[in-house]
Amino acid sequence: MFSVRVLASGSSGNATYVRAGRLALLFDAGIPRRPLVELMQAAGIPPRLDAIFLSHEHVDHLRGVRGMHQLTNAPVYLSPGTLDAAPELTDVDSQLLEGGVELDNALITPLAVPHDAAEPLNFVVRHKEHSLGIFTDLGHANAAVKDAFSQLDCAVLEANHSIDMLWKGPYPLELKQRISSPLGHLSNEEAAALLMECSSPTLAAVFIAHRSEHNNTRDRSFATLDHARRALQKKGHSDFALLHTERREPTKEVEVGHGAHR
Ligand SMILES: [Zn+2]
Ligand SMILES: [Zn+2]
Repeated sequence: MFSVRVLASGSSGNATYVRAGRLALLFDAGIPRRPLVELMQAAGIPPRLDAIFLSHEHVDHLRGVRGMHQLTNAPVYLSPGTLDAAPELTDVDSQLLEGGVELDNALITPLAVPHDAAEPLNFVVRHKEHSLGIFTDLGHANAAVKDAFSQLDCAVLEANHSIDMLWKGPYPLELKQRISSPLGHLSNEEAAALLMECSSPTLAAVFIAHRSEHNNTRDRSFATLDHARRALQKKGHSDFALLHTERREPTKEVEVGHGAHR
């Protein structure tokens, strides 16, 4: 079994749970330990982890890492730059990622991404012949991101903001510029463009992730990505499921490589 559930998504905290065979992996723990464990319990997930992967030091990814490490004893895999930028992790069992790491039958490959953090990573998990990508907090899809995305069977993909809503919205100009910069976050429109350009023929499910509370809506992000999905279908691409994620509510479990039911 190779499956994924997004437990929490957005600037209030991110966490994605992946099961690959016997392995239990957590990607980011951006909400405190207690509510995160409650979310896991609500999803029927035992509080047992073999490894925690931290993408970068922003608090919406980091907040619960130390607590989950203390609870589960799972080592924390992260980049050297992220460790330097997260002093609260200095005494945890950290494993510095310099390349891919093989755990049991799964290969977890970090991907350096453009984002305004010390040394941010996204992750591709490969188990047997199937692969899952967790692609959030990236300012733009560079060639390496496109290449990695084009091989995925399942993706957790950032669709942070609607460009229109961001610029018309309440944020100060400086913050608008940061979010929309090449080191900020992927917009709905950029996520849709990545789908259009780089979807693998085997892509079966896409979670719409890291949606902004103020600069996006569920409907808007879905509509933009669904437009891309339909355009791809017209070009003969096999269909894939688009799934919402919520701020603090586990998604259903999607099996990677076996399609997803809408
Ligand atoms: Zn984030
Ligand atoms: Zn970030």
